[in-house]
Amino acid sequence: MPSTSIHELAIEQIERLSQRGFRRVTLPKPLENAFEQSTRAQRSERLWIEGLVAIGLFNIYVLVDHFLQGNTSWLPLQIRLCVATPLALLINVSMRWSPSKFYRETSIAVVTCIIGVTHLYLESNKSSTASAYAQVGLIVAVIFVNVVMRLQFAYALSASAILLASDLIFIQRDPFLNSPEKLLGVTLAISAIFMTMIANYSIGRDERLGFLMRLRSEIQSKELSFLNIELQRISCIDSLTGLANRHAYELQFAKLWRESIEAGSCFSAIVIDIDHFKLTNDTRGHLYGDRVLVRVGSLLLQSLRCKDDFAARFGGEEFVVLLPDTNQEGAMIVAERIRKLVEVAGSPALTEPGSHPRLSTVSCGGASCTPSDASCKEDLLDAADKALYQAKEQGRNRVCWGELESKHKENSPASKRSTVFSTNIG
Ligand code: GH3
Ligand code: MG
Ligand code: MG
Repeated sequence: MPSTSIHELAIEQIERLSQRGFRRVTLPKPLENAFEQSTRAQRSERLWIEGLVAIGLFNIYVLVDHFLQGNTSWLPLQIRLCVATPLALLINVSMRWSPSKFYRETSIAVVTCIIGVTHLYLESNKSSTASAYAQVGLIVAVIFVNVVMRLQFAYALSASAILLASDLIFIQRDPFLNSPEKLLGVTLAISAIFMTMIANYSIGRDERLGFLMRLRSEIQSKELSFLNIELQRISCIDSLTGLANRHAYELQFAKLWRESIEAGSCFSAIVIDIDHFKLTNDTRGHLYGDRVLVRVGSLLLQSLRCKDDFAARFGGEEFVVLLPDTNQEGAMIVAERIRKLVEVAGSPALTEPGSHPRLSTVSCGGASCTPSDASCKEDLLDAADKALYQAKEQGRNRVCWGELESKHKENSPASKRSTVFSTNIG
């Protein structure tokens, strides 16, 4: 199930469980499964520790009961120490392996019922004091299963029903209690069951509410971080062309420049401007102009071959391409590839039949250098800009290459060429 529907379901269940009155505590299946998954280990650990304490107390009671009361029969002691205690210990130890919900809840309910019924059997029919102990023991068993172990509601209710039914059977047959005493005993047992079941219900509901709240905040924080990433992505993208925008360009330029200084490698930049774009807008309309921009943006991306090459829309009809680890020779090949691609494929078809689009071309100005701590990346762009100006002046649809001050120059032999090198195609 997608997280949004789980989210909606969790919100719906939080509202449902927060309402006043008796609401069904079990959650819909996917949420109940998730609740069980997230609480299983902790719950098993708690049952193991509390169970161990309860078994210890039970054995203290057994010994006190036998020796302080001066019982002559060893049978109750033998049954409790040799049958009930090992059985309880066995179930208790198995909790350490985080068993399934069904096994965990059923085994604790069953062992508690066995100990409770054994207690009723051993204490009834002995004396009126023993019969009273039988009732107290039953109430302790109910408190243990419903509040200490906090069995899930259905299991706690079933165990309580079995204990109450057994109590009714034994108390009804008990010859040492008169009718009002029997009624009092049953009333106390029913009251104990009623009150502990209310506590059990509240605990189960609060545990699930806590789980749902945690789940809701987890999903919300995941959605929030996803939205943040999406927002960051959108804030770095030019909505028309899908290329990186000016903001992303500045971040990337700084990063690539730093890396080039560290690596001591060449760095090239190309500034690309669409020729006579105003005329294109004026003759074919702004919408057509937008299509040209989208087309040129896509051709720019197609012209790049290396994973670190970077293209961005600089603004208006100007683009910039950054080529780390690329010398002038290599960068000029890229610039010429861009120019050629736009010349061939940069003019989107017109919708009106028979009409021919204005041929879109670009002029490219480039520059290369080997970045160092003494150099400034703006100088590289400035040199590329000047070269672009040259390209426009020389008739457009061409690539011109500028050069930086000598201290910033690229160290490769290619950098020793003329100050403005141009490939004149037009
Ligand atoms: P040159 O060859 O010298 O570069 O001439 P040009 O007409 O391309 O240059 P100019 O700077 O005179 O015009 C740029 C035009 O680009 C003007 C502006 O309306 C248009 N423009 C800028 N951004 C957009 C845009 O997002 N969409 C459209 N359709 N046009 C744009
Ligand atoms: Mg321009
Ligand atoms: Mg232009």
